[in-house]
Amino acid sequence: MTTKRIPVVERVLSANDQMAALNRARLDAAGVYAVNFIASPGAGKTSLVEQTVRGLSGRFRIAVIDGDIATSLDAERAEAAGAVSLQINTGGDCHLDAVMVQAGLEQLPLNDIDLLIVENVGNLICPANFRLGTHHTALIASIPEGADKPYKYPGTYRGVDALVVNKIDLLPYVPFDMDYFRRGVEALNPGVVTFPLSCRTGEGIAPWLDWVAAQVAGHKAKS
Ligand code: MG
Ligand code: ZN
Repeated sequence: MTTKRIPVVERVLSANDQMAALNRARLDAAGVYAVNFIASPGAGKTSLVEQTVRGLSGRFRIAVIDGDIATSLDAERAEAAGAVSLQINTGGDCHLDAVMVQAGLEQLPLNDIDLLIVENVGNLICPANFRLGTHHTALIASIPEGADKPYKYPGTYRGVDALVVNKIDLLPYVPFDMDYFRRGVEALNPGVVTFPLSCRTGEGIAPWLDWVAAQVAGHKAKS
């Protein structure tokens, strides 16, 4: 890259990081484990929110902050699945930032919540640059997007803590070179925990739920 970095962007990002640190402190003080879902549009973020809420709402109190450019459709789905949900309309912005999440935290009963899922705006580029204060970031890839995405969005794949590969029920119908995909992921993010699954059929959901539950329980044990 030969592009010069623009100082104003660095200042914006560092102000964002400071707010993210405050968000993290606030979550920790309330004993909330938080995970940020990022993905391209249509990969299945909201479907995974629904599966996660349905699968874990018997064990944990769950809240969802839904980032969307204009609608509240996703928050309504999260609510219907059994979570306390909150919509943040970014007014055209293509990512959530720490200030938007802070505004969301203000409105949630954090002391009564164990797990917070933040559904970011569908976009594989800038959400990776804005820390929110969540403990982990999960990237949801999906079979129809194609196996080249780790190669095209290395910054996003490099920074995530968990990788979900959704829509595996489509593997018989859509060309997707899983070995090529996995090699790309491994080069950027060696050993990242990966969950091939289908939100539609439920295949592979159980290991994902176990991972999330372990994060929530581990966080509780620390706080
Ligand atoms: Mg969605
Ligand atoms: Zn953006």
